[in-house]
Amino acid sequence: MRYGDVLRAWRSILSGRAPSLSIEITRECPLRCPGCYAYETNHLGGSETLRDLSDFRGDDLVARTLELVDRLRPLHLSIVGGDPLVRYREMERLIPQIIDRGIHVQLVTSAFRSFPQEWSSMRLLTVAVSIDGLPAEHDIRRRPATYERILKNIAQRRITVHCTVTAQMLNRPGYLDEFLAFWSARDEVERIWFSLFTPQRGVDLPECLTPSQREQVISELFGLRVKYPKADLPPKVLQQFLRPPSSPAECIFAQTTEIISADLRTRVTPCQFGGDPDCSQCGCYASMGLAAVGDYRLGGLIPLASIFHASAAIGRTVAAVKRHSSPPLEVPEPPPVLITLKAPSEDRDLVS
Ligand code: SF4
Ligand code: SF4
Repeated sequence: MRYGDVLRAWRSILSGRAPSLSIEITRECPLRCPGCYAYETNHLGGSETLRDLSDFRGDDLVARTLELVDRLRPLHLSIVGGDPLVRYREMERLIPQIIDRGIHVQLVTSAFRSFPQEWSSMRLLTVAVSIDGLPAEHDIRRRPATYERILKNIAQRRITVHCTVTAQMLNRPGYLDEFLAFWSARDEVERIWFSLFTPQRGVDLPECLTPSQREQVISELFGLRVKYPKADLPPKVLQQFLRPPSSPAECIFAQTTEIISADLRTRVTPCQFGGDPDCSQCGCYASMGLAAVGDYRLGGLIPLASIFHASAAIGRTVAAVKRHSSPPLEVPEPPPVLITLKAPSEDRDLVS
């Protein structure tokens, strides 16, 4: 994340708006991945599951999504599912229109089918393909999106590989090295992200990492990030995996991301996992990335996280007043201390 992004996000938070929006654009997915949180019975916090929701398609989906985006005005939109490419015709129409609004879009898919080559030249679009391990593990977990199919579907495209590390991958030494060697060598791959499997509280699945496995993975990734430059793993982000946020209230990612499910109404809380996620075992790459930004100290003194939490409190008040006031309340400008950060190097990474 860069200074300019932080300033834009900060203004949004002060206005009482979440700078990031995630939409579960469809309830459908051709995969049945073990441990998938989207279809867990408690994902939506009630008796309904994602599969029970009504979802949209065609013109209706395009128009309703644009209306939602225009109403919530995020800086960043994640399109997840189900698998968004189930609605590939709608995505072909939607994505350019959202990007025209200056919004960064990330589409998360299994690549069970291909997508337009033109997407690869869209600067504000990231296509993240979930690839969970080497073929022996991945092809069992994620069929029909097997290696063979993914390689065919991403040919001459540009993608980000996203791997969720599960305990099953750690039975063989050198597994992550082999994974990185394979995907780093592909021209289609721009960068590689890793998350760690995140369970619900009180749930013990074969995918769950023990604390020592977690330490082992992070220690390996510290070394591998040097060997494989496409591994997008800043040290400050890796460090966060060893001390994840203690609760959703402490999680900057959860506090800055609004998640809407496939009926375009139901909110998923407290974060994208829904239900009752075990923050102490959180392995979400995005959460760790924002935690690393929160650790950044302004002038070497004040952690950005404390400014964020104070700003979020202001934002909640502004939002409450806005709901009861007309004309709309003016949003305060960020104080000058941060404005000065823009001047020398707005594009400098905060967590490199
Ligand atoms: S592709 Fe994603 S949404 Fe579909 S089952 Fe697998 S993890 Fe769940
Ligand atoms: S993203 Fe992780 S740390 Fe944040 S609320 Fe969800 S489980 Fe907890």
